[in-house]
Amino acid sequence: MNEVTIAIAGGGSTYTPGIVGALIENVDRLKMKELRLYDCDFERQEKMGHLIRAILKQKYPHPIEVIVTDDPEKAFTGVDFVFSQIRVGGLKMREKDEKIPLKYGCVGQETCGPGGFAYGLRSIRGFLPLVEQIIRFAPEAWILNYSNPESIIAEAVRRAYPTAKIINVCDMTISIEETICANFGYQHEDFIPEYYGLNHFGWYRSIYSKREKRDILPDILDKMGAGLEVADFNAGDASWAATYKMLGRIVTDFPGYLPNTYLEYYLYPDLVVAEADPTHTRANEVMEGRETKVYALAEQAKANQDSAGLEINFGSHGQYIVDIATSLLNDENRRFMLITPNRGAIPNVRQDAVVEVPSYVSAKGIEPVCLDAIPDFHKGLIEAQCAAEKLLVDAYFEGSYLKALQAYTLNQSVPSANVAKKMLDDFIEVNREYWPELT
Ligand code: NAD
Repeated sequence: MNEVTIAIAGGGSTYTPGIVGALIENVDRLKMKELRLYDCDFERQEKMGHLIRAILKQKYPHPIEVIVTDDPEKAFTGVDFVFSQIRVGGLKMREKDEKIPLKYGCVGQETCGPGGFAYGLRSIRGFLPLVEQIIRFAPEAWILNYSNPESIIAEAVRRAYPTAKIINVCDMTISIEETICANFGYQHEDFIPEYYGLNHFGWYRSIYSKREKRDILPDILDKMGAGLEVADFNAGDASWAATYKMLGRIVTDFPGYLPNTYLEYYLYPDLVVAEADPTHTRANEVMEGRETKVYALAEQAKANQDSAGLEINFGSHGQYIVDIATSLLNDENRRFMLITPNRGAIPNVRQDAVVEVPSYVSAKGIEPVCLDAIPDFHKGLIEAQCAAEKLLVDAYFEGSYLKALQAYTLNQSVPSANVAKKMLDDFIEVNREYWPELT
């Protein structure tokens, strides 16, 4: 087996130990000779470096070099894969994305609604230079991106670097599937799911059981009236419990399909806002929970130089990304839900949309599955969201205030152009360091 070099961009992310955990577990399918952590925040990166070195020293069965750097040339030259998980502006800006909309009675969420659009403009500005650097220093490398908001980043990269070797992947579908398995006793390996939509904006139309030789989605929907109990996949944060409960409401009101959990923000923004605490949002939960825990472990690793007692639950987030890398590397031709230019995969949705659909991954890259046409209700919601995201990306490239206002107004979680404009103006104010100038 070829030994590979992997760079993690956004190495300071609290997901890095989970990714490294998955790399350790899958060493038989993907053997690393070198791991590089790259981050624009050197202090964060250095702390995480102590933890990752300690974990690898204790658990990796082969000699491995670990490089921790904020120099893109050092990070990317000659790498085989870049796993990308950057958060431009950090959790402090996520907090603003969540709290500003709540001030106006709108959904405050990391990747959806007005906050997701604010994050989108920040992410494009940080992500495009990263792609440029990776292409320059490692033209053969595959970029496996899970930096959010994925649809917006994917649309911007598609325009700026149409031939980039990038696969955009989100763990939400796998999280939903594993949560179903944990709740109702199914085995995930038994599923062949069919899902369509945009990232964080789609529906399952069927889940074929290999064992039962039939579509078992109707059985699952029948069992789901009270929603789902949150599974281990989303280990830790309490707000996931409310989100999985809400799924029960959606499948009762709109039977026949299983929605992505994120659709609650577009279908029931009023209910979501009524439940939200405008002074304490998910960003606070993460800063007080996962971030504090992981960085305390990093301090501990620095002091002890080993990973004794470092057993914490990082969720199965990393497994997904490693599965995609091994499918590319070993030509495994496995099936995943991936974010990709539509080009007919959903035949009655615009060809230039960036959609999330079942796709096979081989040494050649990704091959999306061509699906049947989708129902009008889903198509209408998807087309409006897609147009709003495209207008936002136009606003970035053209520096256009008007396009940004159109994007905010069209966002289905925003009630009026009046509220859209107020939120946009507030976001411009707090994002001066991160957004292009909009005139
Ligand atoms: P985090 O803030 O803890 O870590 C992100 C890191 O990125 C930070 O250390 C930061 O310094 C670094 N960074 C920011 N801008 C950078 C740049 N331009 N170049 C290099 N490094 C940069 O955030 P997190 O909670 O760990 O999340 C990281 C990303 O992963 C977010 O975009 C999040 O939404 C995404 N995510 C995606 C999925 C998925 O399945 N798609 C799941 C979980 C998290």
